[in-house]
Amino acid sequence: MSASSVHRALARSHRSFSTSSVRSADFTHAVIGGGVVGLAVARKLQEREGVSTVLIERHGSVGTETSSRNSEVIHAGLYYGETSLKARLCLRGKEMMYDLCRQHHISHMNCGKWVVAQDALQMEALEKVHSFASSIGVPTYFVSREEGKRREPDVRAEAGILESPSTGIVDSHSLMQFLEGDFEEHGGICAFQSPVTKIEAVRNGAGGWKITTSSGDEESSITAETLVNSAGLTAIPISNMILPPDRHFRPYYAKGSYFSYALSRPKPSILVYPAPVPGHGGLGTHLTLDMAGRIRFGPDVEWVDDPTDLRVNDRNLPAALDDIQTYLPGVNRSAIGLDYCGIRPKLGKLGAVTSGKGFQDFYIKREDGFQGFVNLLGIESPGLTSSLAIAEEVERLLYP
Ligand SMILES: Cc1cc2nc3c(=O)[nH]c(=O)nc-3n(C[C@H](O)[C@H](O)[C@H](O)COP(=O)(O)OP(=O)(O)OC[C@H]3O[C@@H](n4cnc5c(N)ncnc54)[C@H](O)[C@@H]3O)c2cc1C
Repeated sequence: MSASSVHRALARSHRSFSTSSVRSADFTHAVIGGGVVGLAVARKLQEREGVSTVLIERHGSVGTETSSRNSEVIHAGLYYGETSLKARLCLRGKEMMYDLCRQHHISHMNCGKWVVAQDALQMEALEKVHSFASSIGVPTYFVSREEGKRREPDVRAEAGILESPSTGIVDSHSLMQFLEGDFEEHGGICAFQSPVTKIEAVRNGAGGWKITTSSGDEESSITAETLVNSAGLTAIPISNMILPPDRHFRPYYAKGSYFSYALSRPKPSILVYPAPVPGHGGLGTHLTLDMAGRIRFGPDVEWVDDPTDLRVNDRNLPAALDDIQTYLPGVNRSAIGLDYCGIRPKLGKLGAVTSGKGFQDFYIKREDGFQGFVNLLGIESPGLTSSLAIAEEVERLLYP
């Protein structure tokens, strides 16, 4: 069941018990954003005794933004600094994701991935990835040239292949359907068509949170004891509605376009990534598979000013074709076409991997001076992989 506004959500809430001092609030928890992360957080919070959680989403259903516009890769955690949130939450999230998918028959595949090097410099990058992965307990190993040729004859790797056996893929739509269903079965409420337009921290959150949504001419408000900002591409503007000007962030957006492939050959059965490039905003134009076994290439990186600009443009296609042909020389260039794109919410024009300068980590904080407010900013890749672990982290921040 879903409501078309926060008011209807309120009518359906059966709040009966609260351990908090803000007893008069409509809900114990309000989570803004029905992407995979908001869903995972809302579900986790709703598992607790005596809570009532509302998930507020501006569209008519869950997961219509970044969570359905990505590579659907369950990342192994190869690229992020040892002490980073990205590394910790990706590692934990990966294990939780495989467990959840197995337990609830959510479509996924532990297909593994190759990172391929074409020259000595790229091989050095692979050595670094391997030694870092070993240091944090993520399995990786080098595949010999003979084994490489035997297993994937279409893949070119002149200098070396590093295999990550714990990488996989997940059907993100099935995952989100499960999370939404489980949340609602536990009594959680989804308020759809409810864009949040105003937020008031009553006595800096000590008196709870008043959240206003507007849809057409209709404006409605609800109150909650705590607030989680999981609004993806709009998380920074929402954070800026709450925090004072000296704590404002500026949002950056890195679009990633995907390219489809119309032929059935060549068709590797493993994900293939080029060696990571220091300072790059993504992981290079890689080859991924979907659950139907179709291959796609991407995403590239293009900085844009407008987070709603979801047009795939062909400006980057020639460069992407060159990239793809370095590791898949037999690919038919004329069978590669434009597919879809997604936009990474970024906190700066910084690298996605630690080998680059100015690596950007996830920002997940219980904000000082604002009671019961957890802010999730810059939740780019590996946000899908990490979603279940991010939910645990948010619960830990709200219930230390
Ligand atoms: C090109 C690309 C490739 C990626 N590949 C991978 C990958 O292979 N593996 C991986 O682990 N991660 C990957 N990611 C990252 C992953 O997709 C994201 O980290 C994850 O989907 C973020 O989920 P979210 O719930 O935070 O955000 P979203 O999915 O964007 O959800 C936020 C929700 O908030 C809602 N919202 C926004 N503003 C408001 C408002 N004012 N009121 C109400 N609702 C609002 C939106 O409508 C949206 O539904 C990739 C990302 C991109 C862009």
